[in-house]
Amino acid sequence: MDVSSSENIQKIITGVLNSDISFLSKAITLAESFKPEHQLVSQKIIDNIISHTGKSFRIGITGVPGVGKSSFIEKFGLELANKGFKIAVLAVDPSSTKSKGSILGDKTRMDELSKHPNVFIRPSPSAGELGGLTKSTYQSILLCEAAGYNRIIIETVGVGQSETLVHQVTDFFLLLMLAGAGDELQGIKRGIMEMADVIAITKADGSNIEKSRAAKIEYARALHLFPPNESGWIPKSVICSSLLNSGISDIVDLSETFLHYTTQNGFFNTKRNSQVLELFNQLLNQKIIQNFFSSETNRQKINSAISKIKNNDKNFLSLINEVLGLH
Ligand code: GDP
Repeated sequence: MDVSSSENIQKIITGVLNSDISFLSKAITLAESFKPEHQLVSQKIIDNIISHTGKSFRIGITGVPGVGKSSFIEKFGLELANKGFKIAVLAVDPSSTKSKGSILGDKTRMDELSKHPNVFIRPSPSAGELGGLTKSTYQSILLCEAAGYNRIIIETVGVGQSETLVHQVTDFFLLLMLAGAGDELQGIKRGIMEMADVIAITKADGSNIEKSRAAKIEYARALHLFPPNESGWIPKSVICSSLLNSGISDIVDLSETFLHYTTQNGFFNTKRNSQVLELFNQLLNQKIIQNFFSSETNRQKINSAISKIKNNDKNFLSLINEVLGLH
């Protein structure tokens, strides 16, 4: 499809608004593309759908590989879909630029969910730096909302960097943890735990059940020691098992309670607003830097300043002003 033709761009826009999955996928691919011409098209699409966005609950789900994210989302998503919600699952992997899809792309564990008529699952490529990933994930969320999805799950691997992403694009943060593995072992930083609205101890079944109950109490205690959450919500720790399908509907209920609570007290909108502001600042900085370095004249000025430093000019502040044309 030639995406430079305005007729085709219009087709994509109409397709997204009509909840056509193939056009939605196409629009997300464009949002993820690094090509300047694709970014331009993507921008046009967003301009045309933005008034149809915002009406979803954006749920971030994080945990180390193997904690049971896919298995959990299969059950959690089905629970929501069976309540009549339209679910989009965006699996994002900021941890690696190499292991394309290996961590999150395993759709086999979301077999039933992926067949549900109310569900759209999209693993994202793991390439690119975090800022770019945050931007494209944000755009993908907007596109899914315009297509009528009202519960959007962002799945990321909890290894540190996902913290920023989850924080910048979601309303609710669910952290999945294993019992008895120790925070250190799970590579979960204190900062991530501090952001969690709910911590769910996974695989609470069989011989693991007692350990899971103990972990739940331990995490409840740890959560209690953190400074109060800006939202006014008191983070909870719970246990669940995807294998037994136990505890999952309680987490759905908790998330819906959170949504209700933060909508009522105004935090929901405040947070959305500050996310846009944060993204604006971040992208503006990136663009300014990109624009500056794309100018041949600027690059020449920088090279000339570098030569002067190599020739023993120590007045770097004056050289910076020279590069910026502030003299
Ligand atoms: P992810 O890497 O975080 O997405 O984790 P997966 O969902 O792929 O699960 C990792 C492994 O844990 C798989 O072998 C699953 O079968 C297993 N697993 C997932 N959930 C449960 C559970 O609730 N109970 C048990 N016993 N095993 C589980």
